[in-house]
Amino acid sequence: MRSLRDGTPASPGIVIGPARVLRWEVPQVPRGAGIPADKVAEEVQRFYDACAWAQQRIRELQEETRERLGVVEAQIFEPQLLMLEDADLIGGTEVYIRENFLTAERAFEWRVLEWEARWSHTAHPMVMDKLNDLADVQGRVLRRLLGLPEPELASFTGEDRVILVVRDLTPSLTAQLHEARVMGIAMDAGTRTSHSAILARSLSIPAVVSLGDFSGTVRSGDSLILDGRTGRVIIHPTDADLEAYSERDFKIREWEQELLLLAHLDSVTRDGARVSLRANIDLPGEAFSAAAHGADGVGLFRTEFLVVGRNAVPGEEEQFQAYCQVAEASRGAPVIIRTYDLGGDKFPAFLHKPPEENPFLGWRAIRVCLDEPELFRAQLRALLRSMAAHDVRVMLPLVNDIGEINATRAIMDSCLEELRREGKAVPDRYSLGAMIETPAAAISAAHLARHVDFFSVGTNDLVQYTLAVDRGNSRLAHLYDPFHPSVVRLLHSVAQAANEAGIEVGVCGELAADPVGAFMLIGMNVDSLSVGPAALAEIKKVIRSVSREEAARAVEDALQCATADDVRGALVSRLRSSIDLSLFAGAWSLSEAD
Ligand code: PEP
Ligand code: MG
Repeated sequence: MRSLRDGTPASPGIVIGPARVLRWEVPQVPRGAGIPADKVAEEVQRFYDACAWAQQRIRELQEETRERLGVVEAQIFEPQLLMLEDADLIGGTEVYIRENFLTAERAFEWRVLEWEARWSHTAHPMVMDKLNDLADVQGRVLRRLLGLPEPELASFTGEDRVILVVRDLTPSLTAQLHEARVMGIAMDAGTRTSHSAILARSLSIPAVVSLGDFSGTVRSGDSLILDGRTGRVIIHPTDADLEAYSERDFKIREWEQELLLLAHLDSVTRDGARVSLRANIDLPGEAFSAAAHGADGVGLFRTEFLVVGRNAVPGEEEQFQAYCQVAEASRGAPVIIRTYDLGGDKFPAFLHKPPEENPFLGWRAIRVCLDEPELFRAQLRALLRSMAAHDVRVMLPLVNDIGEINATRAIMDSCLEELRREGKAVPDRYSLGAMIETPAAAISAAHLARHVDFFSVGTNDLVQYTLAVDRGNSRLAHLYDPFHPSVVRLLHSVAQAANEAGIEVGVCGELAADPVGAFMLIGMNVDSLSVGPAALAEIKKVIRSVSREEAARAVEDALQCATADDVRGALVSRLRSSIDLSLFAGAWSLSEAD
């Protein structure tokens, strides 16, 4: 019988075909006697040999992935390599073998269970990814120890192309997927930013994740329609479904062609208002793809890649090179670089991570930097040096009050003096902005605006802190709503405060990448929107299709609304006259529009 499932859209595209349910498990370790004392050294050696083999195998997979998909995709294997060198995981297993006379398999299983227990109380996507990486490492080491073969996706021979239905996919399994066999992926677990979703996008395989217990309800051979733009899967579709989706597929392909042509057109509204469209990037190399997709510079360069997973503070020179690389790729357009946003589970190995009840309300972002002068000064010096030749601007994450800005300015001024004394090229003045990510910053925006050169609103955090809803908790996903009237009012007042103070205000949270969100922000008179490279073309389309005046009227309506649904309704009803919303990938508005 026909049924529907809605999950999270993870990789766009529509596919129609048979399901292939894949079940893979971490191998069971046989229960049995331990080892005699005189075999301990041999067992420890056997364990280290299996780890070395696993590392070697992951490096091979990483290399294949680099050649096939690129450098960024290959980095997905880094956490697994780090795990295999982790003294706590690997050394801890050795201790269990030595002290408890366990077999290597049992000892490793114990240690992994302890690691899992440490993390599994949170549903944060980054933690889910870690657990998935750990399962990948665990499976590989255990299979080696037990003499079992690697799970093979290549076993899909003799069938048509299939839609893979699976509980979860490890990076190793995803990297082996082949477009020739797998036309789509439907997954019980996962998020848009999980490793497997990133790889699916790189492979251009349509995917829907977070479908709940889907693999338990579908059987191999069931016919499916999977829409990776809206996150919908239809089981046993009717003829009418098949016809409607084939037509939709055709329209979407046409739309994608149209989007390609937009890359180098100006980012202006129909009534002539310029809204700079910039890119959010995580790695320096992404600046090239952003520029190729027509970005007007970089609105958010997350610099955590320089420190996370590292054992030592990165040198000033290495950072300087990375910042210049991004600026050069952006060809004279502004590049906004965010200082380290460490915290949560993003901690470098060289900083002592405090045990915290509530890491997202804890030692995070600007708080860490101000407490760690050695780390902060090296970053600020590198940033100041890069400003000598480029339009590089600095922004601070999670600012709560003016004291944090003044403290940063004092350090920057002293770095500037120091660099001058050393004879290094530095700019006459620098541009320093604050991210508006907490209700405290938003409510005091008018005061903050007198102390900074620009605002960049981080809606991902602003929404979570305003609504007291963890942005990574999938159980609360329905409550995490950027169109909540309180969020809308805060955003409006921040934009107004910046406009009145005459400073630039941009938005770099995910809301800017949502068509309805972008429309609302344009109506609030923001100067720039910054989105991931994949969303640039669609948001350019929104900007060019609407008028600022109409958007402002929609905002006036939205500000009168008492519920998030009413806010969305007020915005969508005006936006619909300018644009066909059903064609956009993964928008909050889409479940309604479809
Ligand atoms: C935000 O909070 O909206 C933001 C852009 O920062 P991040 O997603 O890195 O926390
Ligand atoms: Mg943030």
